[in-house]
Amino acid sequence: MNEKVRCLIIGSGPAGYTAAIYASRANLSPVLYEGIQPGGQLTTTTEVENFPGYPEGITGPELMEDLKQQALRFGADIRFGIATETDLSAAPYKVTIDGEKVIETEALIIATGATAKYLGIPDEQKYAGMGVSACATCDGFFYRKKVVAVVGGGDTACEEAVYLAGLAKQVYLIVRKPFLRASKVMQERVFNTPNIMVLFEHNTIGLFGENGVEGAHLVKRMGEADEEKVDIAIDGFFLAIGHKPNSDIFKPWIDTDEVGYIKTVPGTPRTKVPGVFAAGDVADPHYRQAITAAGTGCQAAIEAERYLSEIGK
Ligand code: NDP
Repeated sequence: MNEKVRCLIIGSGPAGYTAAIYASRANLSPVLYEGIQPGGQLTTTTEVENFPGYPEGITGPELMEDLKQQALRFGADIRFGIATETDLSAAPYKVTIDGEKVIETEALIIATGATAKYLGIPDEQKYAGMGVSACATCDGFFYRKKVVAVVGGGDTACEEAVYLAGLAKQVYLIVRKPFLRASKVMQERVFNTPNIMVLFEHNTIGLFGENGVEGAHLVKRMGEADEEKVDIAIDGFFLAIGHKPNSDIFKPWIDTDEVGYIKTVPGTPRTKVPGVFAAGDVADPHYRQAITAAGTGCQAAIEAERYLSEIGK
């Protein structure tokens, strides 16, 4: 038989745990499923210096453990498990966990976050943890005085290139277009950093190295008549080509933008399905910060509480 709950939260980043803190303090008896990466993206970060309340900073895993303990203290039921399917056609909403167990819930908070995108070349997997990373702030430390490449031309790529330039000897920024998409201020920072070299109109087609990344195979002006193969020697290869919101299993029921970010009523976490709310990075193409995710997690729990009291559940 299906398990019935009042409030189900999917995801265990700052949004999910904050929703759990608020929902349990409001006596909603929330059940939270942690998902593929318990603790979310911050568990792959080292130091978090911009989360209010930690004047000396805190590591990502510690911050997430603190949030989890705070939710547990108020009685949130936090479980291992991945939501694999949903049926939001009518309340109570059905969410399948790990392909087998079905939970029926009156209110649903989606806090499934976003996942870093990769180029899709086989060498990214071959060298995973051996020189390939999607998080400069997590892994940059290992490349002090070394040579690294960052792929991407947006704000993230520029920010990561500047960050890495403070640690590494040389940074290549590999950009597939002849221009950067990043904001003017970030572009200027890149161009004013002497140890960043921007390689415009370059695509990465492979990596090489015996015991880890030692270089990348690039193609300049790929597909053009003057296409040219270029190899660069690097120790680290960082992806910064955007994130994919983890919204696929909800798409049949709720609206998303062209990238997959869940659309909510502006200024609220409400989706178009009554009682279904979206919080954190899965619904945020703009800010994507731990504190903004926590803020929307709080909003979602307050909305869930009001919704449940309105429908008398
Ligand atoms: P963006 O989508 O803005 O940029 C992605 C970049 O990766 C683009 O340059 C894109 O190239 C490139 N790219 C995508 N796919 C490939 C591929 N297969 N091969 C090579 N290059 C590829 O993502 P960001 O993560 O940079 O930013 C997301 C949002 O977050 C933006 O709104 C940004 O402004 C914001 N942000 C703001 C920050 C700040 O203000 N401090 C910091 C970080 C992010 P192309 O241009 O050719 O499409």
